[in-house]
Amino acid sequence: MSTQRIAALEGRITDVMRHVAAYEGVDEQKVLELLVSGQAAIPANPGHKSLEPRGVGGSFKVKVNANIGTSLACNDPELELVKLEAAIEAGADAVMDLSTGGDMDDLRREIVRRSTIPVGTVPIYDAAVRAYVAKGDPTRFTADELFDAVRRHAEDGVDFVTVHCGVTRAAVETVRRTGRVTRIVSRGGSMLASWMEREGRENPLYERYDELMEILREHDVTISLGDGMRPGCISDATDPAQVEELVILGELTRRAWDAGVQVIVEGPGHVPLHQVQANVVLQKRLCHGAPFYILGPLVTDIGAGYDHITGAIGGALAGMAGADFLCYVTPAEHLSLPDADDVKRGVMASRIAAHAVDISRGNKAAWERDLAMSRCRASLDWQGQIAHALDPAEVRERLGEKTQKDGECTMCDKLCAMKVFS
Ligand code: SF4
Repeated sequence: MSTQRIAALEGRITDVMRHVAAYEGVDEQKVLELLVSGQAAIPANPGHKSLEPRGVGGSFKVKVNANIGTSLACNDPELELVKLEAAIEAGADAVMDLSTGGDMDDLRREIVRRSTIPVGTVPIYDAAVRAYVAKGDPTRFTADELFDAVRRHAEDGVDFVTVHCGVTRAAVETVRRTGRVTRIVSRGGSMLASWMEREGRENPLYERYDELMEILREHDVTISLGDGMRPGCISDATDPAQVEELVILGELTRRAWDAGVQVIVEGPGHVPLHQVQANVVLQKRLCHGAPFYILGPLVTDIGAGYDHITGAIGGALAGMAGADFLCYVTPAEHLSLPDADDVKRGVMASRIAAHAVDISRGNKAAWERDLAMSRCRASLDWQGQIAHALDPAEVRERLGEKTQKDGECTMCDKLCAMKVFS
């Protein structure tokens, strides 16, 4: 099985590349070049039949991911499918199934079957839940069981997987030695750290990286190098453990490219505003320009209940500095499993950040959309404003019928500036 990267290296423009070129409004050759350099990735498992591929990185528009999935405490697969629909309807570019409850195989296959956008997963959750159910301890999985989970997800058509290959024994020792307020907040990272300390062995995802590459290459699954050492609070940001892992991720990025596997690199987490740019520069430098998939970042620890806003602020700044892919944060972050409304709010907040970055990068389509909206505002064309808004349904509802019929809105009514000075 070939991959989009291998095809690009051979100079072959595929249908997937053509689709992405048309979506982005760029030349097909440009897409190929971005794949060759590794600056962009197109997560597109040929087993994902309903996929309309999206590219991440390079000069492509900034993309937004929405996380969905069951938990052990809240296990309603139907709700997760409603959340999938909500994410797609709100304009998410990718969705990650982070399920940890119920029949995860069944739900994952259904999500892949229904999703028109790329689907990502975290296979270690699969191995951990099976271990928890069988042995009462989520870290009692074997290395082979972990690899089996990766293989099953790849065979099911998953387009990208988060694997925490950079969580090495040395990095875990650094966490212990330097002391952190929130220790390890990545679920996958904490599981691997605990596993290594108990077993006295190295991270199998690091030790058996070549084997991992073979599985991913066979199904053209993009590797999303997980940031298991991401800071979980402002005081832990950009600390030795985080940077140590990032150095390893840079080495693993090159090894994946050499194996013909496409790469995305994940990043923090909780980062104060003045460190966001430095984090992006560091990632781009150490990981050779690979697409940067940033989780927020959250720019303060006290926004609970509003963390979609905290994350969008960090995402906008990160995008300005060069981040390519924003993982949304919902108002439920740190508090509970999000519902469909949380998913919509999270996607919209991140889309606003992504679009603001596209404008600042000079994306023609982004500029044209804003200009069209402004012209509709100046001429009080409410239907046009609805059409050009990121969330047309929200705009329609807030306007109400009277405004759409009579002209000026209820803000200034007969003192409408657009009418007073026309
Ligand atoms: S009434 Fe005021 S807020 Fe509403 S469209 Fe006119 S100027 Fe804008």
